[in-house]
Amino acid sequence: MTKKVVIVGAGPSGLLLAHYLLRRDKPGTACAKSDRKYQIEIYERRADPRLVSFPKYRTYSLALSPRGINALSHIPGLEEAVRAVSVEVSGTIIHQKNGKTVFRRIRTPQLTLDRTNLAIAILQKLVSSYDSSGVKIHFDSKCTGVDFANKIVKFENNSTGQTEFKNVNYDLLIGADGASSAVREELLNTDGFESQQKYFYKDYKSIFISPPDPKLKLHLQPSNLHSWRLRLNNATNLLLLYQLDGSWSGVINFPHGKNQIAELCSKQKVLQYFQENFPEIAGAIAEEEAEAFASRPISRVVSVSCNRYHHGDSVLIIGDAAHAVPPSIGQGCNSALEDVVVFDRLLDEYSDNLVEALEQFTVRRRPDAYALLELSNYTLPLSQKLFIEFLVRTSFAKLMHKIFPKRFQPFLFDLITESTIPYSEILKTYQKWINKVKKTNEKFLGTI
Ligand SMILES: Cc1cc2nc3c(=O)[nH]c(=O)nc-3n(C[C@H](O)[C@H](O)[C@H](O)COP(=O)(O)OP(=O)(O)OC[C@H]3O[C@@H](n4cnc5c(N)ncnc54)[C@H](O)[C@@H]3O)c2cc1C
Repeated sequence: MTKKVVIVGAGPSGLLLAHYLLRRDKPGTACAKSDRKYQIEIYERRADPRLVSFPKYRTYSLALSPRGINALSHIPGLEEAVRAVSVEVSGTIIHQKNGKTVFRRIRTPQLTLDRTNLAIAILQKLVSSYDSSGVKIHFDSKCTGVDFANKIVKFENNSTGQTEFKNVNYDLLIGADGASSAVREELLNTDGFESQQKYFYKDYKSIFISPPDPKLKLHLQPSNLHSWRLRLNNATNLLLLYQLDGSWSGVINFPHGKNQIAELCSKQKVLQYFQENFPEIAGAIAEEEAEAFASRPISRVVSVSCNRYHHGDSVLIIGDAAHAVPPSIGQGCNSALEDVVVFDRLLDEYSDNLVEALEQFTVRRRPDAYALLELSNYTLPLSQKLFIEFLVRTSFAKLMHKIFPKRFQPFLFDLITESTIPYSEILKTYQKWINKVKKTNEKFLGTI
């Protein structure tokens, strides 16, 4: 019998899951509605991203590594569609205070693109592959509650100016609604469910550098991520990524509540701050962008940890809704997309028996999600001394791995971003380093 799946959230993980569930029908067969294993309805709180343009600061660039790319690659044509709107980067250039740079090459290039463009690429592929008998997508529909006993999820739609309420029944409810998940909030009312949310110690602001104005100088390489740390012990850093339209987009991360960035309230102050602290890019910041930067809201980052991701045989949370992490090692989206692969494998293993597949998702995924949070918090040291050790270890391991690939593996960061080895295995291998960084970072955080 066809199961009705309601997915809350049309972000990367929710949309990719729709592809994977619909593909579970025999490929190439035009299934009658009653023959389908799954029929999908997706509800998204925001407007259709194909039709409206969002203020740039509400989206940001992210990097997809082999984990995320592998998840896309199982849907025919999807990886290609995402590549078409991405820029491939082959390394990171770390700009030092003394003007020198350190280049960290990555063996497997990453794809960098705007988070909303990633969602649009997955969405377009979905609507071009399936008609409304397979998937229906409702935008401007915010989930406001769930009645787990009666399998009903509630939505509110304000798009017409008048609030409309809708109750939707489901066989399987997927909460793919991000770090502030409404579905997860509702799970808190179920027996034994626990979830912890913690603000990251750093906030961020987006920054945009328009396509090159010949008068403005910017000597950066489009095929690399560029990174600056403001005085090594200040915990403020800037990341810039090249965009397909010739512009650069990035974020400046800084400690919450105790930073000059929060006080930059005029165009002059912004330009002066960048001139003093990031002179290589200051000359390329247009006056309009400096003005926009001053009034742009500061964004906070939250991490999420849950003791389970399912409820009975009918509810699952995935992606950021289940395990949001700080973006420090760029794995939030990669792990969200990987969730879909893990769940799909479980549906194979348990022949689409939801009782078992949902329960096993918690059992299999929880150790990796816990490990990912540790890795996100403590792979990169904050102290100058330990950061230099990190760079030396990374370079040495890279060299040894190149010469003796079977005997030496890359150092921690490279292993996370260049492989698909489970996060829990990586943590086990590098627990000592994580403990060391944890100790110094915690001491260090007390001083900023
Ligand atoms: C600055 C920054 C940089 C990052 N860089 C990287 C990176 O380089 N690499 C990486 O892998 N990850 C990165 N991430 C993390 C990444 O963006 C997230 O992990 C990823 O977007 C999670 O995907 P998702 O589909 O689970 O959730 P989301 O992308 O958050 O999507 C959730 C969707 O649900 C919708 N929604 C929310 N509430 C409701 C509701 N009540 N009803 C209906 N719909 C709802 C939202 O509008 C949204 O569209 C970064 C994050 C930030 C903030």
